[in-house]
Amino acid sequence: KKTQRLDKILAHTGFGTRSEIKNLVKRGIVEVNGKIAKDSGLQVNPEIDRITVDGESALFREFVYLMLNKPQGVVSATEDTRDRTVLDLLDESYGHFDMFPVGRLDKDTEGLLLLSNDGKLAHNLLSPKKHVPKTYFAIVEGPEAVGDGDAAAFRQGVTLDDGYVTMPAELKVLKTEETNTPVRSEIELTIMEGKFHQVKRMFQAVGKKVVFLKRLTMGPLTLDPGLTAGQYRELTETELEALK
Ligand code: URA
Repeated sequence: KKTQRLDKILAHTGFGTRSEIKNLVKRGIVEVNGKIAKDSGLQVNPEIDRITVDGESALFREFVYLMLNKPQGVVSATEDTRDRTVLDLLDESYGHFDMFPVGRLDKDTEGLLLLSNDGKLAHNLLSPKKHVPKTYFAIVEGPEAVGDGDAAAFRQGVTLDDGYVTMPAELKVLKTEETNTPVRSEIELTIMEGKFHQVKRMFQAVGKKVVFLKRLTMGPLTLDPGLTAGQYRELTETELEALK
């Protein structure tokens, strides 16, 4: 984590010399995340923590963008009475930003989930009109291997259990294992929309069952392979530019 001494940060942002800043702290007018700082040597992260001097923001950024590798077992919500949510995975220093997941993954789905407090960006990414492509890796079981027939069906559009006909989607079979029944296939599927349980229901429409699902990409974003399940990081400038 990129933490620095509070007095050093404030010195760099024009609040005086270190000893002058020590005085401000002594007077009790420097707050970090709403709490009075007692020590000018306090370690703070200038990108995350909110620092105020005499009630005025010293450094503050409005928006935060995090890429999370969502683990199974947590829900993509801001609150839940029973389950842990993706927000529970974040360091408490993000607590004063009003973070929310940009889109949804099922509780048992892993992978790329963007977390932000930027409502406008979220709206743009999630708008059904935008057709933002999302690629998933899945393990699928069925009486036969996933194959060309399924790829053709998905390209055409399949009818889900509620009558909805899906938009063209691209299916790539990575691997099939036909020695056992049910037959297991590893696939990648790219969809341009995001109906409830869409990937699972598309395979259900062709008589197969998704037993593992992980999102790999969303628009220009690709899940950082360095993030293990439950880990997250800030988006880079380049990633953010590509999203906007
Ligand atoms: N499709 C699903 O079925 N589940 C997800 O979590 C995402 C896409």
